[in-house]
Amino acid sequence: MSKTPFAHPNACLTPLPLGPAPKRKTRQASIAWKTNIVTVGGDAPVRVQSMTNTDTADVIATAIQVKELARAGSEIVRITVDTPAAAAAVPHIREQLDKMDVLVPLVGDFHYNGHTLLKDFPECAMALSKYRINPGNVGKGAKRDTQFAQMIEAACQYDKPIRIGVNWGSLDQDLLASIMDSNGALANPKTAQEVMIEALIQSALQSTERAIELGMNPDQILLSCKVSNVQDLVAVYRDLSRRCDNPLHLGLTEAGMGSKGIVSSTAAMAILLQEGIGDTIRVSLTPDPGAPRENEVIVAQEILQTMGLRNFTPMVIACPGCGRTTSTTFQELAANIQSYLRQQMPQWKKTHPGVEAMNVAVMGCIVNGPGESKHANIGISLPGTGETPAAPVFVDGVKVKTLRGDNIAQDFQVIVDDYVNQHYAPK
Ligand code: SF4
Repeated sequence: MSKTPFAHPNACLTPLPLGPAPKRKTRQASIAWKTNIVTVGGDAPVRVQSMTNTDTADVIATAIQVKELARAGSEIVRITVDTPAAAAAVPHIREQLDKMDVLVPLVGDFHYNGHTLLKDFPECAMALSKYRINPGNVGKGAKRDTQFAQMIEAACQYDKPIRIGVNWGSLDQDLLASIMDSNGALANPKTAQEVMIEALIQSALQSTERAIELGMNPDQILLSCKVSNVQDLVAVYRDLSRRCDNPLHLGLTEAGMGSKGIVSSTAAMAILLQEGIGDTIRVSLTPDPGAPRENEVIVAQEILQTMGLRNFTPMVIACPGCGRTTSTTFQELAANIQSYLRQQMPQWKKTHPGVEAMNVAVMGCIVNGPGESKHANIGISLPGTGETPAAPVFVDGVKVKTLRGDNIAQDFQVIVDDYVNQHYAPK
């Protein structure tokens, strides 16, 4: 049989699959506050969560930040509960949020003294919707089992789900030492990195078994094993996902600041999400001084939306610009329309369902502008250098208007509003 002149000798005739692998089958946990029940795992979408950085003892500051995170789209918010003052504040934070009709479930993040705080502050235990327990930080030696059991008893008593959240920075040192000893006796010992990964996973799995023995509902146990290296995170979760059926919380711990934090979190989580692994995500960004905490929510949403896993807010597609468009008009228009769309979403979510899947294209010149604009729901191609000062607008692939003059941004926003009202307002 003759080969076509263009066929590569290694060409594979089986079409490659498109899109992510099917989501891993897991149990489903429910994290609830009043009427707001957030399911995680099972057939639930991958959930977005975040964590405050206020002093939890400061009721007002914490309630405001939780509200801002929830308004940005965080479906679960974790708060540090580290002192008696913080534990005493939790029911008041909850009360403030309820008054503002912010029913986002709160997760208490406990280390070292969680067993005591949950016992001494029952109203805190009740106001929280989930407890995060770090098995490396529940106590040392003989105290570890007792204190872990006390936390599980509180979870059972108040009917709260838990996350067994292992972190390589606070890994159970006794367990690590024991795995290292066993490894040393092997004919072909594993590397130090492999031993660390095994210790993280065993810590999560052994704690899960123990919690179930103590009466915890297996459906209500979520797991995480966080590390700060991308390849290690991928290796840990690939292995963990095969050894349990609990919902998994993904996150690269201490991801860092700015683009490094965003890129490393995205790199690690995108690989796992593409393989169907991960039921809830948190992006642990170190905020620039003064930057809003909600950025970590926006990044998490953008990871899921750009991967086609969920829609949160209309996406703006914009070209990078080049020497063909030397004015900054198109960059400003792209930035303005993106922030306008995001600002509208809390309201549109209620009044215009489905708008979150809309695409808007803002392009810098005639080279790719009209073509790309035609593929979006609404697109605008701004004039490049030397081009006629006119901006054709496309709606569902059809050119409907050409904008001119000084008010192109405002006129374009009116077209976007009209489109949203025509297509997404309830009939
Ligand atoms: S659309 Fe035009 S301005 Fe934008 S990157 Fe392409 S050639 Fe450059």
